[in-house]
Amino acid sequence: MVERLLNGDRRALARMVTLIESESPQAHQYLAELHRAAGRAHIVGFTGSPGAGKSTLVTHVVRELRRRERKVGVVAIDPTSPFTGGAILGDRIRMMELSGDSNVFIRSMASRGSLGGLASSTRDVVRAMDAAGYDPIIVETVGTGQAEVEVMRAAQTVLVVSAPGMGDDIQAIKAGILEIADIFVVSKADKPGADQTVAELSMMLSLDGKRRKAAWRIPIVKTSALKDQGITQVVDAMQQHREYLNESGMLMQRAQRQVRSELQALIVHTVMDTLKAKVSEEEWNALVEDVARRERDPYTVADELEARIGLKAE
Ligand code: GDP
Repeated sequence: MVERLLNGDRRALARMVTLIESESPQAHQYLAELHRAAGRAHIVGFTGSPGAGKSTLVTHVVRELRRRERKVGVVAIDPTSPFTGGAILGDRIRMMELSGDSNVFIRSMASRGSLGGLASSTRDVVRAMDAAGYDPIIVETVGTGQAEVEVMRAAQTVLVVSAPGMGDDIQAIKAGILEIADIFVVSKADKPGADQTVAELSMMLSLDGKRRKAAWRIPIVKTSALKDQGITQVVDAMQQHREYLNESGMLMQRAQRQVRSELQALIVHTVMDTLKAKVSEEEWNALVEDVARRERDPYTVADELEARIGLKAE
């Protein structure tokens, strides 16, 4: 299967993604082989509030990339929140439109489960697509919260999409995502207020001392999917950021940052699995209760549990 995947076989890739999502133990065995072949793709994250126009933008960006004869992978993280349920339908429509193209591979993933779980399965799916020769790979998430920031760490270039008239957006960006943004996109530029959103974003950037000194100047690109405007500029900006990462040595730095968090996540995962195998849920809950009631302290309890799984001497 690894060989077929490396030769770009879509069915092998689809099967691999399913193994990753079902957390099959075989997945890691295959991924270990794929890791060496991966590392060529440009990984680009698209994030922003629900309704900002991400899915529409991604569709247009993929079309432009196809015009440039790129083989494109898309990982769309489906929201499970009832408030954004509509986006799932949007995803399906989009997928139908692009799925006829054998040089586009789209996979939706549900954002159920733990934060760390989602980040690690996204990382693995990206690794598989990368090894299969897709480049760039777009990772799209909804929202600007903790989960998005976590998932976006898998990307080399992060685009934050906001739309005019969504004032709260700027607040959300300030609070969570400014630190990881590389490109700002103001979508729906055919609507009134786009220039004001651009002005607010550039004001925010000019107030950020760290950003002002950085070698990469965050571009703010206005797009209208409706009028097919700004899309080539978005793709150009993605490309320029990738070149900047290459030339500045930042690409390696970001890769190392990612490996660090991946290794930590894998180890924590194993430790927690081992613990779950040795300590029943009942006992675990009883211990939690004891500590919460202050009958016991967390340090001693942790020491004891660590000893049980062989991490510490009894
Ligand atoms: P997402 O939730 O961020 O993925 O947003 P969608 O791509 O689903 O878009 C949300 C809504 O905005 C949809 O009704 C789109 O038709 C609309 N929309 C997206 N792009 C544009 C645009 O460039 N101009 C206008 N006027 N509407 C847009």
